[in-house]
Amino acid sequence: MDKKTIKQFKERLEKEKKQIEKQFKTFADKDENVKGDWDTRFPKWNGGSGGSALETAADAVEEYSTLLPIEHTLELRLQNINNALEKIKKGQYGVCEKCKKKIPDKRLEVYPEAGVCLKCK
Ligand SMILES: [Zn+2]
Repeated sequence: MDKKTIKQFKERLEKEKKQIEKQFKTFADKDENVKGDWDTRFPKWNGGSGGSALETAADAVEEYSTLLPIEHTLELRLQNINNALEKIKKGQYGVCEKCKKKIPDKRLEVYPEAGVCLKCK
């Protein structure tokens, strides 16, 4: 792969990384102790009393449980992107991590953070 193409992929990956981090910031906090880990903030509710307080608490729990899988998906993507950026640094970008063959450009265009080819997926 020539330098110009790699640079294009690098820019795309960096842009995606920023977008994911932006998305994360809307509902999660970065865990400073664990690299690449984000923690979903537990939604606040206003307390109150009686039945309505219980209801809003239940809403908060529900919101939290819908956010967790999103957190997981975004975390995985971020990991893959960081991994791909690391490979660019090492000059190994576009090489399958399993069979060491070249990953087709077409696959990278659709999925620039791909670490393995379609066969090894
Ligand atoms: Zn492969």
